[in-house]
Amino acid sequence: MNKNKDFEKNKILINLIKILGEESVLFDEPLKNHTTIRLGGCTDFLVTPNNFEKIILTLEYLKSENINFFVIGNGSNLIFSDDGFCGVVIKINKNMNEIVVSDDFIISESGSMLPKISSFALDNELSGIEFACGIPATVGGAVVMNAGANGGEMKDIIEESVFLNEDLEVCVIDKHSHNFSYRKSIFRDKKAIILKSTLKLKKMNKKTIEERVRLFTLRRVENQPLDKPSAGSVFKNPSKDICAWELIEKSDLRGKKIGGALISQKHAGFIVNDLNSTSKDVINLIKFVQNAVYKKFNIMLKTEVKMVDKNGKEIF
Ligand SMILES: Cc1cc2nc3c(=O)[nH]c(=O)nc-3n(C[C@H](O)[C@H](O)[C@H](O)COP(=O)(O)OP(=O)(O)OC[C@H]3O[C@@H](n4cnc5c(N)ncnc54)[C@H](O)[C@@H]3O)c2cc1C
Repeated sequence: MNKNKDFEKNKILINLIKILGEESVLFDEPLKNHTTIRLGGCTDFLVTPNNFEKIILTLEYLKSENINFFVIGNGSNLIFSDDGFCGVVIKINKNMNEIVVSDDFIISESGSMLPKISSFALDNELSGIEFACGIPATVGGAVVMNAGANGGEMKDIIEESVFLNEDLEVCVIDKHSHNFSYRKSIFRDKKAIILKSTLKLKKMNKKTIEERVRLFTLRRVENQPLDKPSAGSVFKNPSKDICAWELIEKSDLRGKKIGGALISQKHAGFIVNDLNSTSKDVINLIKFVQNAVYKKFNIMLKTEVKMVDKNGKEIF
């Protein structure tokens, strides 16, 4: 056992607890407990700040000690490596989930879940976010990824976001400055932290909204393997007219399994953690699919999920 390393870790633990309180700091925490695909080794620390000030204080400390960090929301688009993460994972979810309404606007802290906002909007007879009623994402993660479904995307409803930049300044950007594109925004490759976002919706009859939510929920239950851990669709669609799942299906890969990672029988775009999968199994299966689809269609599928190594860098 490395005594120096243990001493360092203890020091960091004590300082994090001083800043955030004991209830908001976990150490040697398995990341599989914080990702929907239930994969990933341990992170040295995982913290759940419950307000802006605590986030700033935490980052000031991490920066002053040159400690690596990685921000997550609900972990529904992330696959951490089996080696885990060296540093501090900052999880922004239910500790920062206030939602308020003002006329046609909903202002939400970045840890609120989209399904919760969707039902809050329904209660307030506001339409526009029905498309997201089944996306298991926080607002922060959904803005970063420009999450979308059923013909809608975050880019259609975001009015502005408040975020912390790398110099720990609180900044506000309007909808255009988010640079939204397919499953991407200006935040995708940045170390900024989204604190809250304002959504612009429109008044609508409650029955109409309810009917849309019912339809979108039914579609998801019928078409997606919601009973198994996954990170949603693994690959981006190569174009508007070509779906990744169709290419995978036409390559006869439905049901293909490597270790515990399986191409879902129900939706060929999903890789599920069937039983005791490792991140390595999933990565190997992703590579296998990419090669098979490339051989058959001369198209290289790009991943929508983010795979992260122990230093927080994207694997590929
Ligand atoms: C069953 C299932 C169905 C899904 N269906 C859809 C779908 O229909 N459409 C769709 O687009 N996606 C879908 N997804 C994928 C996923 O929900 C989205 O990509 C979502 O946007 C990720 O949000 P999250 O809060 O889980 O973010 P995470 O996965 O935790 O993080 C995603 C990225 O955002 C960053 N991030 C998270 N929070 C913040 C923050 N506050 N500030 C700065 N950066 C942050 C992370 O560093 C990471 O880079 C699905 C996933 C599952 C498991």
